[in-house]
Amino acid sequence: MNDAELIRRDLAVLWHPCTQMHDHQSLPLVPVARAEGVWLHAHDGRRWLDAISSWWVNLFGHGHPRIAGAIHAQLDRVAHVMLAGVTHEPAVGLAEDLLEAAGAPFARVFYADNGASAIEVALKMSFHAWRNAGETARTRFIAIEGGYHGETLGALAVTDVALYRDTYAPLLHSPRFAESPAPRAGETPEQAAQRAADALDALLARHAGETCAVIIEPLVQCAGGMQMHDPEWLRRVRAACDRHRVHLIADEIAVGFGRTGSLFAHQQAGIAPDFLVLSKGLTGGFLPLAAVLTTQSVYDAFYAEYATRRAFLHSHSYTGNPLACAAARATLAMFRDEPVLERNRSLAESMREAMAALAELPHVANIRQCGMIAALDLVRDRASGSQFAWQERRGLAVYRHAIAHEALLRPIGNVVYCMPPYAITTDEIQHMVRIARDGILAATRDLRPTSVVVGSASFDPAALEI
Ligand SMILES: *Cc1c(COP(=O)(O)O)cnc(C)c1O
Repeated sequence: MNDAELIRRDLAVLWHPCTQMHDHQSLPLVPVARAEGVWLHAHDGRRWLDAISSWWVNLFGHGHPRIAGAIHAQLDRVAHVMLAGVTHEPAVGLAEDLLEAAGAPFARVFYADNGASAIEVALKMSFHAWRNAGETARTRFIAIEGGYHGETLGALAVTDVALYRDTYAPLLHSPRFAESPAPRAGETPEQAAQRAADALDALLARHAGETCAVIIEPLVQCAGGMQMHDPEWLRRVRAACDRHRVHLIADEIAVGFGRTGSLFAHQQAGIAPDFLVLSKGLTGGFLPLAAVLTTQSVYDAFYAEYATRRAFLHSHSYTGNPLACAAARATLAMFRDEPVLERNRSLAESMREAMAALAELPHVANIRQCGMIAALDLVRDRASGSQFAWQERRGLAVYRHAIAHEALLRPIGNVVYCMPPYAITTDEIQHMVRIARDGILAATRDLRPTSVVVGSASFDPAALEI
């Protein structure tokens, strides 16, 4: 197999996700022949450090033998069987493992096969639980500014990322959006948490009677630009939901499984949501699977004679796929058997040190980190806070530089971030951040007065000419 030939065939037949295919007239595809640990390898010997865990799904590195082994073993037994009216050990065992890991008050697990579908499940379940309780006025949700919950229509409606949402707005149900708890200019995280919680409380005071649930991403709004907030906001949100009697849905699709420093992000605030939505890292990045954990009281709202028509009649063909469940059980076992969170703390510290050096770059602002997620903003002018226009595509220039220099870094607009697999070494962290640094220099080169010297041994000005 030859990389150029593969790319030629790809561009003749494929339509890639989240991509203006026209870009690929000049933007090279990354041809992956095999992957191991943090590295993606081409057929011709080139390689890339997967600095974004393949869209945040990979936890312990590509090809991790324990997860691969669990899938192999399951493959010899049963690859797939429907889950309505049928049961199997991987689905049952995983539900037990998830409930044990998440703790009280979770009592039930409902499977889906991707993040957006699991969000649909949580939204429908919340709405339907209220309806079954006779509260038919509750038809709307409260979502958070800058939040992202996936791109199917129900999930997209509670998403506030214009790039994904605006085009489809006429098709979407209409949630209310509450203020983001991410600090605004001049605000401390504590002040931001207070401000946003007060605003949510006021919104609930007016609209709780027609609200099913508040849906949030605990600690980090990822696709919305790695916006981070204080755990105090989560406590205040939980208290407001209790006070006004609405459900709380925690979308931990991206932040679950150790990404923020704890197994689940909401645990850092000492609170629990009514619905916990998991996907991405659930299988260690091996297979598609999602799960919605909820409470006994939500489950009880559906449990009745068939003729009451209270059942939750939602399904996906591959619900609870045994191979994916086996991968997920192996993933959870890794957290039990190895000091994953402890190791991540020291990796996160290395990331913090490496990223701190980027603060000297003239077009970098707002370096931030939460556990294994580190991010910064590319800005035109740090002093005035003026932004680059999206049309300049500075982030894309960082991406281009990185793939020419052995790293897959995929900025979100002008937000450059690293969210590597936990298998990364401290040397590889240096490598990753050095490439980010050089990529930022390359992407902002035209703006630097020539008298300003920003030294970097490996900076290659030719890198932009891909
Ligand atoms: C990725 C993501 C989703 C959607 O998951 P998919 O599997 O891509 O549909 C939803 N919410 C959050 C927070 C995510 O990061």
